[in-house]
Amino acid sequence: MNEQSKALYEKAVDLMPGGVNSPVRAFKAVGGDPVFIDRGEGARIYDVDGNEYIDYVLSYGPLILGHADDKVIEDVTETAKKGTSFGAPTALENKLAELVIERVPSIEMLRMVSSGTEATLAALRLARGYTGRDKILKFEGCYHGHSDSLLIKAGSGVATLGLPDSPGVPEGIAQNTITVPYNDKESLQVAFDKFGFEIAAVIVEPVAGNMGVVPPVDNFLQFVRDITNENGTVLIFDEVMTGFRVGYNSAQGYFGITPDLTCLGKVIGGGLPVGCYGGKREIMNHIAPLGSVYQAGTLSGNPIAMQAGISTLSQLDEKSYDHFNHLGDLLERGLTDVFSKHNVPLTINRAGSMIGFFLNGGPVQNFEQANSSDLALYGRLFKALLSHGVYLAPAQFEGMFLSTKHTEADIEKTIAAFDAALNDILN
Ligand code: PMP
Repeated sequence: MNEQSKALYEKAVDLMPGGVNSPVRAFKAVGGDPVFIDRGEGARIYDVDGNEYIDYVLSYGPLILGHADDKVIEDVTETAKKGTSFGAPTALENKLAELVIERVPSIEMLRMVSSGTEATLAALRLARGYTGRDKILKFEGCYHGHSDSLLIKAGSGVATLGLPDSPGVPEGIAQNTITVPYNDKESLQVAFDKFGFEIAAVIVEPVAGNMGVVPPVDNFLQFVRDITNENGTVLIFDEVMTGFRVGYNSAQGYFGITPDLTCLGKVIGGGLPVGCYGGKREIMNHIAPLGSVYQAGTLSGNPIAMQAGISTLSQLDEKSYDHFNHLGDLLERGLTDVFSKHNVPLTINRAGSMIGFFLNGGPVQNFEQANSSDLALYGRLFKALLSHGVYLAPAQFEGMFLSTKHTEADIEKTIAAFDAALNDILN
């Protein structure tokens, strides 16, 4: 039953492009109409027609404690009663900054912003201002938000829509962005041989999460660290997705690599709009008002958003990651059995609470290999899973996310739902 969702969608398409405020939500990649959500609780979401789903989207990553966590909601409500925004410093900003700095090894100082896009665009401007260079290098299939310099060979929604670049990005800007395949050390070497001392920054997702989940292989991140050091290039880890998802100390802690700058978002806002960028004090000192690189925000460090981040991070500990790894193991084993029973090729990539599956024989180590997944089958599987109460991202190039509220029983139900869904679409 989807009547309420259908009625809302009919209205929405008149009001917003595609009826949505972010493209992936329109279900264009999988076909069918979007489901409108009424509420969430733990690992579950409920749509406006009363259908219940086990949620593996979790708002595309932020909700690591699941939906409507009691403490987050209670703390945010109390904070809101004191006022919603001041445009002046509050103690809450110190507290969230301390929590982040304590746990993310390379960050000595940071600046709060309101989204991941803002974090990456500010980090790039800082790297350019700091080095006095214009060029940047990114990897194919990595998504770093929708700012002009970075909307080039980006994955995620852009990949899904088949827009390698977006109209509206001036050529002059695109020319300063060099792209190289992910996990490809040779191509990176070639790019540095050609442009080395012109490259202000390399920006990388330490585990790519926007072409499905694609971990680094073969000491790729160490190679990126070494080559940027040799060329005086700022290394930016975009941990907007991997931050506090790949491990307690984020991906950089997990892999033991120290970037110069880090961008965070999603989990550090606990479901409210927060991003941040930070890193070496020596570089961060160039940001206004200390330095001359400008960046600002009316709602930056918003007290309610800071509180949601504090209440989220303070409930995560090392044990949370044991839980994610345990559930990830169960899910990987279960899905491997189910797909092999149905004779459908499957590749699973995992990193902490991020799990990606591809409908191909693998391995998947870059965007080209990710793109060889059977996208049409993904669409059919997605819809069949919805009818069996499992909510995945409506696009192949997004991973599945786990929360502390997902249970072994949820994983068992999910595996059974995949089995039933494959039965529906293959027979
Ligand atoms: N960087 C990465 C790695 C992301 O996954 C995202 C969002 N999916 C962004 C940046 C952009 O963040 P936002 O959508 O909050 O602007």
